[in-house]
This record gives sequence, structure tokens and C-alpha cells, in this order.
Amino acid sequence: MAPQDTVFSSAGCRECNQEELMRAEVISEKCIGDGICADTCPEVFEMGDDGLAHVIADPVPADAEAACKEACEACPTEAIELS
Ligand code: SF4
Repeated sequence: MAPQDTVFSSAGCRECNQEELMRAEVISEKCIGDGICADTCPEVFEMGDDGLAHVIADPVPADAEAACKEACEACPTEAIELS
């Protein structure tokens, strides 16, 4: 009879899930402010008053990861880094 309180479910491990979340970064020196990323993934990118893109969701929400990758690939100057 194993004690029930020593059994953990990986599906319920919030810390593990958080480590797998994506992070996005805009390299401002490369950004030309065309707004493609903000149009493609407004959940994560927003155009600032400085005319450059900024990350507004860190880490990237799981349901926005696909659009975030698409924005990264669409950026003409490769200003977006994902990790
Ligand atoms: S797509 Fe790239 S260049 Fe265009 S606003 Fe976004 S980060 Fe800047």
C-alpha cells in the first residue's frame, strides 16, 4: 500500500509547464517599424510611440505561440528572437 500523497501527476505540474513557455524579444536596433508582427500576433507584439515593436506578453501565451512564430518568420529584418 503506497501512500497516496507521494504520487504526483506531471499533467498537474505548473512549474514544468511554465518552463516550456516561449519568450519573444524584439531587437530594437533591427526593427524598422513596419508593424507586421503586431498585425500577425497582436497578443504578443504592439507598436509603441517610438514607432518600434514591443513585446507585451512575456512569456508568450500558449495559444499565441503559433502566431508568434509566424510573426517571427514574417519579420523582414529578423528583429524577433524566440527562446
Ligand atoms: S515585423 Fe520586425 S521589423 Fe516589423 S515591426 Fe515587427 S519587429 Fe519590427
